[in-house]
Amino acid sequence: MSRKPPPSDEPEHKDRVIHTRVPESLEAELRERAERLGMSVSNLVRNVLGHAFGLVGDVVADSQAIARVAKGDGKAAPDPEDILAWQAIVLGKNAVCSRCNALLAKGSAAAIGIAETGPYKSIICTPCFEGTKL
Ligand SMILES: [Zn+2]
Repeated sequence: MSRKPPPSDEPEHKDRVIHTRVPESLEAELRERAERLGMSVSNLVRNVLGHAFGLVGDVVADSQAIARVAKGDGKAAPDPEDILAWQAIVLGKNAVCSRCNALLAKGSAAAIGIAETGPYKSIICTPCFEGTKL
């Protein structure tokens, strides 16, 4: 008879799954906005919740933009085809690659895309940046 270790033995950062019941309309809305942001519904929900409770702070450089889009009063992330220029950068904040959702640590190399229309920007990881040059 083996007993499970008490919960306190588990690492605090271990991901938990929260099941929640939402109206069909909200689910459709979440899917649509996640798609516009080019991220998964899970990532969108995590970001919005973290932002709402101040848990992420400046963890995600684009969290303000994500929150705006999630609330419906902002435009979606720029269309990758609408990027006027890409510039290699060193991140001053943690960010999330807008193409592959990779977490990018502050101080690491990445690239920023400036949209041709509108004040929108896009942050991508180095592998995705290398892909844009092909
Ligand atoms: Zn990427």
